[in-house]
Amino acid sequence: MGYADFHRRSIDDPEGFWTEQARLIDWHRPFTRVCNDDKPPFVHWFEGGQTNLCHNAVDRHLKERAKQNALIFVSTETETERIVSFEELHAEVQRMAAILLAQGVKKGDRVLIYMPMIPEAAFAMLACARIGAIHSVVFGGFASHSLASRIDDATPVAIVSADAGSRGGKVVAYKPLLDEAIALAKHKPAAVLLVDRGLAPMNRVAGRDHDYATLREQHLDAQVPCAWLDSTDISYTIYTSGTTGKPKGVQRDVGGYAVALAASIKHIFMGEPGETYFSTSDIGWVVGHSYIVYGPLIAGMATIMYEGLPIRPDGGIWWKLVEKYKVTVMFSAPTAVRVLKKQDPAFLKQYDLSSLKALFLAGEPLDEPTARWIADGLGVPIIDNYWQTESGWPILTVANGVERQPSKFGSPGVPMYGYRVKLLHESTGEELTGADEKGVVVIEGPTPPGFMQTVWRDDARFVNTYWKSIPGKMVYSTFDWGIRDRDGYYYILGRTDDVINVAGHRLGTREIEESIASHPNVAEVAVVGVADQLKGQVAMAFVVAKDASALGDANAQLKLEGDIMKLVDSQLGAVARPARVRFVALLPKTRSGKLLRRAIQAVCEGRDPGDLTTMDDPGALQQIRDLLA
Ligand code: ATP
Ligand code: MG
Repeated sequence: MGYADFHRRSIDDPEGFWTEQARLIDWHRPFTRVCNDDKPPFVHWFEGGQTNLCHNAVDRHLKERAKQNALIFVSTETETERIVSFEELHAEVQRMAAILLAQGVKKGDRVLIYMPMIPEAAFAMLACARIGAIHSVVFGGFASHSLASRIDDATPVAIVSADAGSRGGKVVAYKPLLDEAIALAKHKPAAVLLVDRGLAPMNRVAGRDHDYATLREQHLDAQVPCAWLDSTDISYTIYTSGTTGKPKGVQRDVGGYAVALAASIKHIFMGEPGETYFSTSDIGWVVGHSYIVYGPLIAGMATIMYEGLPIRPDGGIWWKLVEKYKVTVMFSAPTAVRVLKKQDPAFLKQYDLSSLKALFLAGEPLDEPTARWIADGLGVPIIDNYWQTESGWPILTVANGVERQPSKFGSPGVPMYGYRVKLLHESTGEELTGADEKGVVVIEGPTPPGFMQTVWRDDARFVNTYWKSIPGKMVYSTFDWGIRDRDGYYYILGRTDDVINVAGHRLGTREIEESIASHPNVAEVAVVGVADQLKGQVAMAFVVAKDASALGDANAQLKLEGDIMKLVDSQLGAVARPARVRFVALLPKTRSGKLLRRAIQAVCEGRDPGDLTTMDDPGALQQIRDLLA
């Protein structure tokens, strides 16, 4: 059976298709109804069934692979390596679960996890899953204000945290940020569990703060059985990256998520039990949830948890780990590859990468020069995949597990099984069926297993935000703008918010960015639409040059600006030509590495840039302000 048939079957016979996929996990009680979408857009998968994510990720592997690697922790920040077998993981998770239970955490209670990338963070997530507590992992790099708003949204009974994280060799103390956040928040957690890494001093609040190592000693022999949860119970909440505005709280189920992940490891990532998976993301993001913690472990794979930068001690560190642990599947982001691209490409050839089947990249458009650079350097397939925090697993890619489909540069690929992806005209809602027509990428319900259940505590926001943005049609909007070619491959052209309207022509920021990025001296580029009295909008480009030294004087800058404009003229036509190309040292991004175009646009138009709580380096935006001043 080819992939097209595989996909068709998932759409024509979802019950049969997903019943088959559901055999990839253990069920405590079988489900009685595969898909209940009686009240769209809400979907309940595997109703009547009972299972547990932690059971599937840990306990069920004990019979066959107790002594095999489960979690491989590597920190180039603290020079630590620790290997945890499935058997040890089982013991550690039960200890953590016992500690949480002793702190009064019950099924359905929230536990907020604010942690660096250390094994205890995974123990805490799995312990929550084990006892049916809902975890809410907040990226460890967030400061107290962002953390406080998440504490108020999740209202956790307990918080699990640590003294500090470390980035680029610099210790980042978490505890003062946590204390400040709790002070700022209206909701006060009853208990705070602290892992002391010995990196930064901690003040402890008597009665509230507890030392993890001490409590662990008291629960060394803990036996905490998995709570059997309904498939439709809530497993966790997680926030979107905040690229287009205030982050949205995504809520996910138990059974559908477990099945979706097991199926994706098999059909998309080509992972096999006993192999090693390496995702370079962070547990604070959806990729970390799905493909550092749950997905690989559910599939019986070892997973690498890496604390550190991709370029420290040098640009070869990731590949060194691939060789050492015989990584077969790797997952990263274009933004990380662009960081590597500034390093010596010899690092890509220094280690034995023969175990590696593919490198998957997601999170942002993968531009052709970056894709080619890494593909040539590594000599393994580079597989772009498009998805969202909301979906939990890939929406578009070239599903290699079923049938090898050719990749096309610039396109993540075709709709994955279970997804009814369509392109709609954004104002008429009309379906665009022809090749190369531009429209909004939408998903028709019922959404597949693993997809968000709702917005945490806000069904109305879920329906109104995601399902009512296209007039007259109840479809899920991805808020991305795209086209589909003759072969059914999709191309993401930018966010719907970022579409630029120049004298009546609608252009995605991505189209112009791709063109500019093809200039040999362009390392990174962001294009935004700026209000213009004459044309409605004009494009403005902000470029990070590869060789900034060549831009020493104003003339050199004008020359490169002119060259870039000519390039865009020749590739896309004069209508796409940016009004100005400005040069900066870095671009404003979210902590997950996404370009904050809306913030750049606001600054260009002299408006308030809005919610910037997820922004990485504020200096980047300031640079743009200064340029325009
Ligand atoms: P927010 O929803 O809060 O504005 P966000 O959309 O950046 O933030 P995420 O869920 O982390 O939050 O990111 C999903 C988005 O990332 C997609 O909607 C898309 O715009 C972009 N994206 C992800 N993967 C790809 C890819 N392979 N190619 C192009 N764009 C991608
Ligand atoms: Mg989004």
